[in-house]
Amino acid sequence: MTYAGRLAVVGLGPGAPAWRSPEASERLACATDVVGYGPYLQLVGELAHAPMLHESDNRQEAERARFALGLAAEGRDVVLVSSGDPGVFAMATAVIEALHDDEAADFGRVEITIVPGITAASAAAARIGAPLGHDFCCISLSDVLKPWDVVVDRLRHASAADLVLALYNPRSRARPHQLAEARDVLLEGRKPDTVVVVGRDVGGPEESIRVTTLGELDPGTVDMRCCVIVGSSQTRVSATGAVYSPRTHEGPRPPLEGPPCPPPLAGSRRDPASGP
Ligand code: SAH
Repeated sequence: MTYAGRLAVVGLGPGAPAWRSPEASERLACATDVVGYGPYLQLVGELAHAPMLHESDNRQEAERARFALGLAAEGRDVVLVSSGDPGVFAMATAVIEALHDDEAADFGRVEITIVPGITAASAAAARIGAPLGHDFCCISLSDVLKPWDVVVDRLRHASAADLVLALYNPRSRARPHQLAEARDVLLEGRKPDTVVVVGRDVGGPEESIRVTTLGELDPGTVDMRCCVIVGSSQTRVSATGAVYSPRTHEGPRPPLEGPPCPPPLAGSRRDPASGP
């Protein structure tokens, strides 16, 4: 198949140039067009061959994806940038969705590559130790693309499963109360002394990393440039101040709320040791 043009959905990592993959740099170095939200275009930095830069609004994900695909369908070499990893709360999905919706359009002739990047949770974790060393999940607290009830439900389940949580989009000016509500939901199942890490602008010029506890987490000190890692019951702080979740999970798992397990089906095989 002859491709019209190509589109790379590139993860720039969380900020530090050293955290950008060689593949991401290679695609940027030969792009004719770079498309992205303003602050992400700034993360790209100077490019010697001066490609066309197309800045867009952060909210117009579907439009941005279609625009980038449209340029590539004209035969151009396009890079669509995301911060961190493009597949984590970012543009890779918007591109795949646009393709799915427009199967008959010219987009089918565009060669598409997703170039992974270091996601914010990994970057914040690396700066403080290894809090993601055991099972963890990532949850976005933004209710722009999903109802807040869904967020709360997921927080409850993740908490009940004793997973470490990496919270993205933790608090914006438009929804300042949600982090406090999220913290209170987590406190229903987690102890107040649960370790919490707040990484802000990790890899960037205003980087800071704070270690606190769930009970003492002050939502007022958190903004959209933060990734908040809430430890499991096993997460601890070492003598040198590093935060880690041991590779081995010790101790009983907290009881899960919910319906009891259904009875075995009639005629199913029984353990002979369990008697008649
Ligand atoms: N694709 C990105 C996430 C985009 S959602 C990634 O993989 O990292 C935007 C959220 O990511 C922010 O609200 C914040 O929670 C987190 N984030 C992005 N860059 C960050 C950084 N440098 N430091 C801390 N958190 C960051």
